[in-house]
This record gives sequence, structure tokens and C-alpha cells, in this order.
Amino acid sequence: MAKKNTTNWPLAPAPESKDHFKLKPQYELFIGGKWQKPKSGKYFDTINPANEQKLARIAEAGEADVDAAVKAARKAYDNVWSKMPAAERAKYIYRIARLLQEKARHFAVVESMNGGKAIRESRDVDIPLAAAHFFYYAGWADKLQYAFPGKNPTPLGVAGQIIPWNFPLLMASWKIAPALACGNTVVLKPAETTPLTALLLAELIQEAELPDGVVNIITGAGATGAALVNHPDVNKIAFTGSTGVGKLIQKSIAGTAKKATLELGGKAANIIFADATIDQAVEGIVNGIYFNQGHVCCAGSRLYVEESVHDEVVRKLKHRMKSLVVGDPLDKNTDIGAINSKEQLGIINKYLKIGQEEGADMYQPACDLPGKGYWCRPTLFTNVAQSARIAQEEIFGPVLAIQTFRTVDEVIQKANNTPYGLSAGVWTDKGSKIFNLTTKMRAGVIWANTFNKFDPTSPFGGYKESGYGREGGVHGLGAYLNLN
Ligand code: NAP
Ligand code: MG
Repeated sequence: MAKKNTTNWPLAPAPESKDHFKLKPQYELFIGGKWQKPKSGKYFDTINPANEQKLARIAEAGEADVDAAVKAARKAYDNVWSKMPAAERAKYIYRIARLLQEKARHFAVVESMNGGKAIRESRDVDIPLAAAHFFYYAGWADKLQYAFPGKNPTPLGVAGQIIPWNFPLLMASWKIAPALACGNTVVLKPAETTPLTALLLAELIQEAELPDGVVNIITGAGATGAALVNHPDVNKIAFTGSTGVGKLIQKSIAGTAKKATLELGGKAANIIFADATIDQAVEGIVNGIYFNQGHVCCAGSRLYVEESVHDEVVRKLKHRMKSLVVGDPLDKNTDIGAINSKEQLGIINKYLKIGQEEGADMYQPACDLPGKGYWCRPTLFTNVAQSARIAQEEIFGPVLAIQTFRTVDEVIQKANNTPYGLSAGVWTDKGSKIFNLTTKMRAGVIWANTFNKFDPTSPFGGYKESGYGREGGVHGLGAYLNLN
């Protein structure tokens, strides 16, 4: 079937092939370098959210399995990894990076099938960035003294890592690469709905011949994550996910010696001044909220437009939205893939209703949606009050809340008026405005005249309820080291 968008220029289908590999029907737990059946005896299905078809059966790790994984990581830490010369550790990490590049297409296809994101995103963003993180941190492994002059950096021990479903392989790489470079061993739990690329990464780690137990991948739901957090022999928790679960984790590790980094939710302000290049800004808005279905913690979900250009920005944005292709994540023309789960679609739809009940005006282009699977049209709301729930709460979907402003002070005040502080964007022709805003906005990352750009050399993390600690760059090393 030809892809339709509402400009009525049908595009010929351009599906990415998935015939060059086969997923296993069932995946076990990757513990101590081997695939082990769960002691719990339990399994769950993982599906493709674009068609609701089952992709594989996945083992569910119970407490005894978590314990076995932590023991394997401890043994590998004590006997092998912490003793290995750093330059040798680096060689393994480089090998993972190179293998990821070799298998990039395979990983991209599986990421799109399991997570619902458009192949364009997984192929051009997720997988190359994941490999880049391994390359970057491999380079640091034998230079930690230079990263922290005058200090004596030593690893923390066993790191328990818990990641969400929006960037499954990227989050795994983001967490595993610095941990290994600093000499720690790892137990990682991917999200329940997107375990597949983490399991493929485990296969790749086997192929790279990492010593047994240095990386352990255990699948399961929230209870598996909680068991990992509460395990007494874990030295560090690295968590990316919702603010709600982040708070629970903080409570459970209070009073222990465990270190933690928490990367939590966001409600980023994207600010457009009248002197900005409007067409470029409109592309940035689309990139900031609609690509990856808005499943981005730092998505530009609040748009502040200088009043004099509001009508022009909204008109151009609506026009651009009509040309966005919503549909099969494996089609190379697709801009917006499937919502990751039925549960998440329910949350998004709840907010669409709340937005309308709050009196805001909703706009969606009239594009066709596939019959099966979980889908949401790109959506914007105008006439949004600052106190509206759609302007305050994280929706985690392709939904934009638009407000206006007249002065710089007003927009800074509005942008900061949120419990979150993960990211923000500024669009203007004036460098002085950029510097003024970036020094006054409480957000961990601020993009100027661009949005959602990532690089392994750049630290990332939040203020306020968006969490604490930094990942990426030299800062990301510090989170996995004792610095005495
Ligand atoms: P989530 O429900 O908090 O889940 C994140 C991870 O924690 C999943 O692996 C989850 O397992 C696990 N988990 C659930 N309950 C747990 C518990 N009690 N103890 C330990 N682990 C537990 O978040 P999500 O819905 O997957 O992801 C969306 C959220 O992540 C959004 O709020 C988003 O802003 C945030 N996020 C933040 C960043 C950042 O860098 N700041 C990046 C990406 C996403 P299950 O999969 O089984 O639930
Ligand atoms: Mg969850």
C-alpha cells in the first residue's frame, strides 16, 4: 500500500528488509557469560507495537536470578576486570564498538520492530550513537588519571543499571560503556517492552569474548528492577526512567553506601523569538517533539513563541505536520512510527482529552492510521494556559503545547515554571539573547538554533525533578569512579 500523507502525494513503499536475520523464538538470561534459564521459570512475550505480533519469548528474572547475576558480576570484578590493565579493558570496549558498527543494520531493524520507532531514527541516530559511546569511552579507559588530575580514580565495583524503552540500545550503551571503561562490572535490566536489542548486545558481547560476568543482561519488569536496586552487593545504581520510579529508588537506597545517578522525566521549553529563522525553527520544533513519537525525555513539548510571530509559526507548523508520514516503522519514508505500548498510548490519549477539557484548541492532520498497532497522530494545542496540565505534566508522546510571550523575562519565568529541568531550546538570530537565556534557564542541556542533538563527549542530565548526576563526556566517567 502506498504511504499517504495529507499533502496527497502518495509515496511508494520503501520497506527495510528484515530477511537477513532471524530472531530466536526464546531468549534466556545472560549471566556469567552464559545463557541461563530463569530460576523463576517465568517468561513473557515481547511484541511489535506496529502490528501487535509476538516477536519472541523473554525470560523473567526473579530475585534468585538477580542474585546470580550480581554474584557473577562480583566474581568478574574481583578476579578479572578490576585487575586487568586499563589498556586491555579498552581493547574489549573498542571491539564492542566495531562489532556494533558491523551489525548496525541488524540492530536498527530489531530496534524499530520492538520499539516502534521509525527506521530512519534507529538507523541514523540510535545505533551510530550507541557505537560512538563505546568508541568514546574506550578511549578514556587508560587515561582516567588525565581526566581527573591530582586524583586517584578507582572503580566502584558492581553497577546495577536500569533503562527505559524509548532508546533501548542507546541507553544500554550510554550506561555500559563508561562503567566498563572505569573498571566496573555490570548487571543491566532493559525495559519490559523493549528487551531485544539489549539481548542482541549480549550476543555481541559474547562474540567480543569479554570475560564471563563482566556484563550481565537480565530481563523482566519493575520487580526485577527493584530486586536489582535492593541487592546488598550492588555498589552503584544508574537509572533512567520516570520521576516516580526514580523517587522510589532514592528511598530504597537511602542510608546505604550505594551511589546513584538518576536520569528522569522532562518537560522541555522550546523558545522561538521573532528574529529567528522561522522555517528552520519549524523544522526544529518538528524534530523536537514529533520524531521518535515524542518518546524523548528531553522532547521540546512546550513551545513558547514570541507573540508577533505566533500565527506565522502555527500556520507553518500545521502545514509541515500535514506532510509527516505516520506508519510502518520499517518504511524508510516514515517520520512517526508506532507508540511503544498500549499502556503508553492510553496515557497519551488521556492527555489529549484533558487538553481539550482544559479549553485548549487541538489540531491533528487528517492522516490515515494503520488498523492494527498503537498509533497517535502528531498533535498540537494552542490557547494553552500556563497552569494547564498539558503544559505542566510529561506526556511522552507527539503532543505539543503552544503558548506565547512578549518579553525575555516573561519567557524565562514561564520556561522555568515546571518541576522538571532536563533540557530546553532557544531560536534567535542574536547571540546575546542565547547567552542571556542559557545562563538563566534551569535546564541541564540547552540547544540554540537546533534541538535534540547528542554527542558522547557532551554531558547530559537534569535539574530538579529531572534527576541528578551527569552521563556522557568526562562527567560520565566521574559517576563510575571513586575520586580520592
Ligand atoms: P519507568 O516506568 O520508570 O521505567 C524505567 C525502567 O525502570 C524500566 O526498566 C522499568 O521496568 C524499571 N522499573 C519500573 N519499576 C521499577 C522499580 N520499582 N524499581 C526499579 N526499576 C523499576 O519509565 P518508562 O515508562 O520505561 O520510561 C519513560 C520515562 O523515562 C519518562 O518519564 C522519561 O522522561 C524518562 N526518561 C528519562 C531519560 C533521561 O535521560 N532523563 C531518558 C529516557 C527516558 P519496566 O519496563 O518493566 O516498567
Ligand atoms: Mg514502566
